[in-house]
Amino acid sequence: MANVVVVGAQWGDEGKGKIVDWLSERADVIARFQGGHNAGHTLVIDGEVYKLHALPSGVVRRGKLSVIGNGVVLDPWHLVKEIAGIRAQGVEITPETLMIAENTPLILPFHGELDRARENQNAVAKIGTTGRGIGPAYEDKVGRRVIRVADLADDATLVTRVERALVHHNALRNGLGLEPIDRDALLDSLRDIAPQILPYAAPVWKVLAEKRAQGKRILFEGAQGALLDIDFGTYPFVTSSNVIAGQAATGTGMGPSAVGYTLGIVKAYTTRVGEGPFPTELHDEDGQRLGERGHEFGTTTGRKRRCGWFDACLVRQTCAISGIAGIALTKLDVLDGFETLKICTGYELDGARLDYLPTASDKQARCTPVYEELPGWSETTAGARSWAELPANAIKYVRRVEELIGCPVAMLSTSPERDDTILVRDPFAD
Ligand code: GDP
Repeated sequence: MANVVVVGAQWGDEGKGKIVDWLSERADVIARFQGGHNAGHTLVIDGEVYKLHALPSGVVRRGKLSVIGNGVVLDPWHLVKEIAGIRAQGVEITPETLMIAENTPLILPFHGELDRARENQNAVAKIGTTGRGIGPAYEDKVGRRVIRVADLADDATLVTRVERALVHHNALRNGLGLEPIDRDALLDSLRDIAPQILPYAAPVWKVLAEKRAQGKRILFEGAQGALLDIDFGTYPFVTSSNVIAGQAATGTGMGPSAVGYTLGIVKAYTTRVGEGPFPTELHDEDGQRLGERGHEFGTTTGRKRRCGWFDACLVRQTCAISGIAGIALTKLDVLDGFETLKICTGYELDGARLDYLPTASDKQARCTPVYEELPGWSETTAGARSWAELPANAIKYVRRVEELIGCPVAMLSTSPERDDTILVRDPFAD
């Protein structure tokens, strides 16, 4: 039985939410394996809009198990609020339908404060974080001073862990001009929240191994996109975790062979939120138009996204790094009505041609895109559910994307509605 990993293959916001939801109907288990509540997936089911941040997309479907894996960092207060909000929309969430890995690190209030304090001081080179403490929580995980879900169950352990974290954080806060952390107030709030989190705590690696042995289908739901990966993204303007498909294994406790088919989500053009290099960025009417037609504003932050032409060179790179077997090409309808479309096939740097984005920041900044032009289409593709409904030039565009990235289109999305999707290959098929 094939399992499926869904990862973003650009800078995030590729429309993963819709595709994950589409696939989650066919899956038995839906697992998050990295990131925090900065994810912000939007799902539209029967006209009802669900905005999920920390919860896996599976929670809005009956009879599925949703899992928050150890690769995630979890803000327990946020989670409790998000659960309450989704429940208010009539969705049932119980320890049978939601499990949180016991070894999941917690985001604490001082992580968010640190995030914001550093970002405000760092006017020279803002990373563009969402200020939710996700980066500092990952730092504490690697620094071996984070508090994990299992620690909430034993008061003596909790006290020791908090004290260990405070030694580091109070020194740091002193340097940043922040007040020291109130140890007792922090412990009290952790003791308060613990009973609301612990019922969901589980040895997720074990549950997943059992599900796999039973032949259940597991969907691994990625957040952000490969160009925001901590190792392979446009560092330092990246997120603080690995987001590529390999992380699905370490972020849940399954071996790499369990991960299965990797579906890369790719927008038919390119967007990016916040700072950092973006070779095909447009500052003209075309860019404006992509942003307006594509409603390119962040779900989590409301920030306007930067927009540009499709960068086949970058997607070829992220397909290789994530081992992407097929892509879901989304938002094709946003390109309706453009007379001419451009696709970036490579870069020029200091007079030489490059077929990949180099690692060094100065080189990334100096890369200029080499474009190929394709004719656009005046007809609409919005809502198309079969190839026959697509204009010939739209099909040519899709075929050219496949050729240039070296990866086939498995799914094609033509509107925010779940069923406005053309299926070429079922990712769950063996
Ligand atoms: P994610 O973080 O990758 O899930 O992406 P977002 O949810 O931030 O952005 C996707 C947005 O685009 C959502 O508002 C979706 O409803 C919408 N969307 C997804 N697929 C399509 C599509 O094929 N066409 C159009 N026009 N909108 C889409």
